[in-house]
Order: sequence, then structure tokens, then C-alpha cells
Amino acid sequence: MRIGIGNDIHRLVAGRALVLGGIELASPVGLLGHSDADVVIHALIDAMLGAAGLGDIGEHFPDTDPTYQGIRSTELLTKTVELIRTAGFTVNNIDIIIMAQEPKLASHKRAMRQRLAEMTGLDLTQVNIKAKTAEGLGPVGERQAIAAWAAVTLA
Ligand code: MG
Repeated sequence: MRIGIGNDIHRLVAGRALVLGGIELASPVGLLGHSDADVVIHALIDAMLGAAGLGDIGEHFPDTDPTYQGIRSTELLTKTVELIRTAGFTVNNIDIIIMAQEPKLASHKRAMRQRLAEMTGLDLTQVNIKAKTAEGLGPVGERQAIAAWAAVTLA
């Protein structure tokens, strides 16, 4: 059994779609980034790579590479699942914390879990998502950013 952790934060700006956990949410602001800036999937990818001893997301999908300009993070997750399997691992479970002051995520957690479960070949019970606000504190609390943490075990 191997364990990995991942973390990411992206800035919220007007004029961008808000994509979290592979799901596009209705929001007047979205996350800024080279890809679709899905912080949840970026944290998850880093946790998976970490557990497998395969480095980090920037090594595999550099933001200086035009190949990844505007790419959907779900595509990066699919590539990461392939890397993990090639290295001889299977994903055992995923636990994620999303920190966002807005929008409220409670009603979207199940859809995100389903999306991530289907992409990683897991059962819904093996993918957990916890959503928290930052109690108005710091860049997340002041609605300037959304952050995510992920923990993954691989077998
Ligand atoms: Mg990122």
C-alpha cells in the first residue's frame, strides 16, 4: 500500500468557466490557469503521482508546453491513471477537501465523486469529497481563490 498527498490553489477571475472535479458549475467567476484550472483534479493528480513515486504534475504536464494550453484536466487525469497502471499500481481510494467560500458545493459533491470514480475505475464508496468554506479568512475566504487537497492510496 502506498499513500500520496496533493494540494493546489487557483485564482478566481471573471470570464472563465468554473470547473471542479471534472464538473462545470454555474458561477459568475472561474479559475484562472493554463489548463481549465480544475484545482480538484490537479491536487488529485499530484496525490496519485506522489503515491507512485512519480514526481509531480508540473514534471509530467508542464504549463510551458503548448500541448496543455486550455486542456481539460480530466484528460490529464486519464493520462495519470495510465501512468499509475503502467507503474504497476491500482488506485485504492481517494479523499479530497475542497476549500471554497463560493459557490456552495454540497449539492455538487455527488456528481464530482461519480465523475472521479468513473475516471479512476473506482466505486463511489472509494471516492470521498469534503467541501469547506474558509470562514471568510485569507484568499479563499475573500473569494480570490479556490484550493483543494487530496489524499490517495494505491495498491
Ligand atoms: Mg493547478
